[in-house]
Amino acid sequence: MSGDGRSAQLRDRLESVQERIASATRAAGRAADDVSLIVVTKYFPARDVALLHDLGVRDVGENRDQEASAKIAELDADVRGDLTVHFIGQLQSNKARHVARYADVVQSVDRPKLVTALDRAATEAARTLDVLVQVDLAGDDAGRGGAAPTDVPAMAERIAAAPGLRLRGVMAVAPLGADPRPAFDRLARIGERLRSDHPDATWVSAGMSADLEDAIACGATHLRVGSAILGSRPQRR
Ligand SMILES: *Cc1c(COP(=O)(O)O)cnc(C)c1O
Repeated sequence: MSGDGRSAQLRDRLESVQERIASATRAAGRAADDVSLIVVTKYFPARDVALLHDLGVRDVGENRDQEASAKIAELDADVRGDLTVHFIGQLQSNKARHVARYADVVQSVDRPKLVTALDRAATEAARTLDVLVQVDLAGDDAGRGGAAPTDVPAMAERIAAAPGLRLRGVMAVAPLGADPRPAFDRLARIGERLRSDHPDATWVSAGMSADLEDAIACGATHLRVGSAILGSRPQRR
C-alpha cells in the first residue's frame, strides 16, 4: 500500500476508535478527556508509528523489548521526542536495563524483582519511569503476567519507595472468553484502594480493541488499542 493509502487507512480507523471512545464516555457520563488512548503498534513498522504521529497520536504501546527498541531507534528524533512510549508486555528482569533506556512508562510491573531491576536501571540512566502494577484478573495466571490482587498493596509500597520509579496506577488485561465487566470493575476497585495510600496513582489501564466500551463504563483512564487501528497483526518477522 502506498504511504498515502496507509495514512488514510490509519486516519479512518483512528477516527472510528475516537468516535467509539467519545460515545462510550458520553454514555458513562464521563468527560471525553478523562480517557487517554494508547495506540499499540506491536508487529507494525516504525513507518506506521511516524504516520500515526502525523495524525496526532502521542502515546504508543509496545510489548516486546527487541522489536520496540529497534523500532524507536528508527524514528526521527523530533517524532521520538513527541512520543510517550508505554511498555505493556511481559518483561524479564534481565531486560529491565534495556527497556529503561527507551520506555517512558512500564505498565506490566508484576513482581518485586522487576521493581528492583527497573529502579536500578532508571537510576543508572538518570531517568524516572512511570510504572503501573499489572494485576492478574483471571486468577489462573494464563501466562499473561500480573500480580495477584492481594499482592498489589505490597508491590505499590515497593514502587513508591523506589527513587527511580513513579507509581501511576494499575493495569490489566480482561480474562479471555469471559464478560470483561466484572474484571474491569474489580480492577477499578483495586485502583481505588491503591489511591487511598497513593493519591497520585490515578491511572486505570484497561480496555483493548474489543472491549474498550466496557473498560470506559468501568472507569478506565487509559485504553490500549492495537488491531482496531493498525489492522490484524501480520506474522512476526
Ligand atoms: C496487544 C495488546 C493490546 C492491544 O490489543 P488489541 O486487541 O490489538 O487492541 C493491549 N494490551 C496488551 C497488554 C497487549 O499485549
